[in-house]
Amino acid sequence: MTDTPYLVHGVFWPAPPEQAGAPGAPPVLRLQAPDGTFLETALDDGTRLGFRLAAGRKSCLGHHRVHGPARRDHVLCRNQSPAARGHQCERCFVADEFRLMHEFHRGGGVPPGLRSYLMQPHWLYVATFANGASKVGTASDLRKWQRLAEQGAVAASYVARAADGRVVRILEDLVTRDGGLPQQVRSAAKAAALAAPAPADRLSSHNAALADDARRLLSTAGETGFEVVQETWKRPGLAGRLCSVTARHPYPHELDAGAHGFTIRSVCGPFVLATLEGTDLEFVLDLGRLKGRTIELGEHRSEVPAVQEALF
Ligand SMILES: [Zn+2]
Repeated sequence: MTDTPYLVHGVFWPAPPEQAGAPGAPPVLRLQAPDGTFLETALDDGTRLGFRLAAGRKSCLGHHRVHGPARRDHVLCRNQSPAARGHQCERCFVADEFRLMHEFHRGGGVPPGLRSYLMQPHWLYVATFANGASKVGTASDLRKWQRLAEQGAVAASYVARAADGRVVRILEDLVTRDGGLPQQVRSAAKAAALAAPAPADRLSSHNAALADDARRLLSTAGETGFEVVQETWKRPGLAGRLCSVTARHPYPHELDAGAHGFTIRSVCGPFVLATLEGTDLEFVLDLGRLKGRTIELGEHRSEVPAVQEALF
């Protein structure tokens, strides 16, 4: 349907393949139709994606109620209110149970469903992005792989398996305080880095060294309730081309207005390497910029910019 306005919820990665080496399912662009149903558009190598931005501000994406490790309800925003706090309106922000996670970490009480979610084992990881910028982070057991896939990491290692979500956040703060690793790398910095990525093998060795430092810190910290682990995160095959040193350019248009259309070659997190009709050049886009925007799908195409191909 070409004229249906869809609210974009973002790029989501499915669970990894059960068999090692099997190609995983591609990520999807998750779209909310006006009747509250969802459309998921696969973002695979060769997928043509065309859309036009509707006018207006970003809308609220609703909130979550948590019932356990694997069960949560996504409650859509009642009025599709404008987003006021991140991707939520004030009402959904207050109602969101995941917001209470930080209370739990500080010893506060949380609802039973969220408590059972937080009591599952959690993983501590070190992730490295395309320019070498790195962070420490946490993933629940059931989202161990996806948590890294959705952030657009080029290389990552698990450094500890913690008994629950409280212990893992204590470890995370410890690695930040004593190891100097931040807990966030901004999307704009990740996208800019993917426009001129460092060689992936160099990023892998940099990540391995940082992960070893973190493991050393943890094993002498005197905390309990976790074990140090040696495990490498496996980057999805679809991200390979975007994470390699090929010629590409930053996408020259803002994703907050206008018509866009391109063919996807490679995807890493919410970042896409795409070709435009009328040129062989490849461009890096951050589809995460569409989150909260309303789009209409259709046979649109991006205007080809006048860029001068770098000489190699
Ligand atoms: Zn809302």
